[in-house]
Amino acid sequence: MVFPSMEDGDHEQVSYFTDPETGLQAIVAIHDTTLGPSLGGTRMLDYETEADALTDVLRLSRAMTYKAAAADLPLGGGKAVILGDPAELESEALFEAYGRAVDCLGGRYITSVDVNTGVEDMDVVARETDHVVGTSEGLGDPSPITAHGVFHGIRACVESVYGSDSVAGLDVVVQGLGKVGRSLAEELLARDASVTVSDVDEAAVESFAADHDVDVVDPDAVYDQPCDVFAPCAIGGVVNDETIPRLECDVVAGGANNVLAERRHAEALRERGIRYAPDYVINAGGLITVAKEHLGGGREEAYEEAEAIGDRLREMIERAEDRDTTVLAAAEEYAEERIDAAERVTPAVPTQ
Ligand code: NAD
Repeated sequence: MVFPSMEDGDHEQVSYFTDPETGLQAIVAIHDTTLGPSLGGTRMLDYETEADALTDVLRLSRAMTYKAAAADLPLGGGKAVILGDPAELESEALFEAYGRAVDCLGGRYITSVDVNTGVEDMDVVARETDHVVGTSEGLGDPSPITAHGVFHGIRACVESVYGSDSVAGLDVVVQGLGKVGRSLAEELLARDASVTVSDVDEAAVESFAADHDVDVVDPDAVYDQPCDVFAPCAIGGVVNDETIPRLECDVVAGGANNVLAERRHAEALRERGIRYAPDYVINAGGLITVAKEHLGGGREEAYEEAEAIGDRLREMIERAEDRDTTVLAAAEEYAEERIDAAERVTPAVPTQ
């Protein structure tokens, strides 16, 4: 039953596509286009059931609406899933067919990369549609810009806790030394923070520690490490019932998606007196970068806009304090106000 699920989440449109020749089975969910065309990546996964794929795409597309609105972008929320095993499915013909599927939505949905899809796939999609970003013609790897936004978000959080936005002398633990974590650690070190790093990939830790003045903590001990700021930049769900009582920090603010195992964990952090920067607000630098590709502009402008994440977060923190609520609730309210106040760019069901 698709309609009840769509109506539950206020989704505008869900489109199913099949192409028997290539094995393509895709679902595109457009959550909300009040602020502009929907933008969100294409995830390729071997879902257990079709219902799981629908649930995922509805959840992810809705999250994109909030992420774009909270980043003050003139974009709505959408997402797509391609059902199947990436190892068996990946083919140029499949992504060409998928490109035609995206194209027939007439620009209401703009696609990009996500789990198990990459720049080379988007290059193939771009043969069939203009409604794609994250191609090799685009602005390049967004990760350093994501990290730059996270850095400014951390500054806003520490200011709300310690009264100064300087990170000099603060102890920051960076979990995950991937594309975002490495850039963030370097930016923190450049501003004289004292940085501790952690990664399950020992080689990544060793090579980073060889070139930088950092301490290292075992991945399992990362939650017990006393610090001022814990910056999760690896995987989702790391703030949960088991880890919250262990945290020895004043701030949780990092680049990872879905940091909280469940929404209620924002309140649990607040009860422990830990400032939490909502992930979709602080890690919006990646979306800001791909949005620039669509809206026009270069990397420099994307860096500047990512810097503004700090001020936006300050506003949300202030709002949360005024309302005696979590910053997550304040961020949702901020995004909903933007959508409610906007005049629709296109109707939910477009005219031709
Ligand atoms: P990445 O794959 O380059 O790096 C992830 C790193 O985390 C890897 O080094 C991996 O070994 C490490 N890791 C995995 N599990 C771990 C664990 N349990 N403990 C410690 N380390 C662990 O990914 P990335 O692009 O740096 O992204 C990191 C996070 O930020 C992801 O959650 C991603 O969804 C999110 N994010 C990234 C961007 C971006 O621009 N790249 C934008 C928004 C959000």
